[in-house]
Amino acid sequence: MSDGVSPEEFQALVSEFRASLQELGRSGVCSVSGLSGGTVEIAEALASPPASPPPASSPPASSSPPSSAQAIGGTLAALREDMGDCQRCSLGQSRKSLVFGVGSEKARLMFVGEAPGAEEDRLGEPFVGPSGQLLDKMIGAMGWSRKSVYIANVLKCRPPNDRDPKSEEVASCEGFLAKQIQRIQPAVIVTLGKPAAHLLLENKASIGALRGVWLSYEGVPVMPTYHPAYLLRDASKKREAWADLQQVMARCEELGIEAH
Ligand code: SF4
Repeated sequence: MSDGVSPEEFQALVSEFRASLQELGRSGVCSVSGLSGGTVEIAEALASPPASPPPASSPPASSSPPSSAQAIGGTLAALREDMGDCQRCSLGQSRKSLVFGVGSEKARLMFVGEAPGAEEDRLGEPFVGPSGQLLDKMIGAMGWSRKSVYIANVLKCRPPNDRDPKSEEVASCEGFLAKQIQRIQPAVIVTLGKPAAHLLLENKASIGALRGVWLSYEGVPVMPTYHPAYLLRDASKKREAWADLQQVMARCEELGIEAH
C-alpha cells in the first residue's frame, strides 16, 4: 500500500474491488488470479470482512540529525539543573554562587580556566573580573566574542581566598566539565593556566612547558596557554599567549571554522 493513499481512498478501492468480484461472480466466474500468481476464490473473498484502512500515517521522522546535546543525552541547562545546589565538595559551603559557564551551547571554540574568583562568585558568571576583561580582549582580538565561544572553569565554586584548587575538589567537580565538553562538542579547546591544562591533558608539566604545543582531550585539539590573571601579573608573557592564540586561529581556519 502506497503511503500516499488516504483511508477514504483505500475504502473506495476496496468497495470497487468487491463490486468487481460480485460482478464476476454473477457472470459465473468462480476464481481470479491473485497478484502472487495463485488463485483467489471469489465466494471466499466476498465472505471475508473488508480490510481495514491503514492507520493514519505517522508524521515523517525529522531528517535533521539530533543536536550534539541531544545525541549525548541532555542539554547544558539540564546538566545545570542536575547539579542543583551541589555540595559534592566543601566549596559548596563557602561559595556565594555556583559558576557554571557562559557562552554558546554550539560553540566551536571553548576556553577552560581554573576556578571562579571573587567577582565571579559574586555575579555567578566566569571571567567577569579584571582577568575576565583581559580574556574578553583576547577573544575579541581573535575575531570571536564572549557569546560565540564557551567559557567554563574546572571548579564551579570559588576556593576561599582564591587558593589553589585541592585535588579532592577537582576530583569532585571534574565530571561536570567533562559533561559540558561532551554536550558542547567544541572543535578546539584553549586551557587557561596550569590546573585546566593538568586536568584535561593529564600532564603535570609546568604551564611554561605545556603552552604553545597542541595536545588532545578526547580527540579534541587543546592549546594550553597562560591564565589571564597571570598575564596581568606578568605582561611580558602576553606575547607568548598571543602566539598561542594565533595558533588557535590558524587551526580554526584549517578546520573551516570562521570566527564570529
Ligand atoms: S566545586 Fe564543584 S563539586 Fe564542589 S561544590 Fe562546587 S560544583 Fe560541587
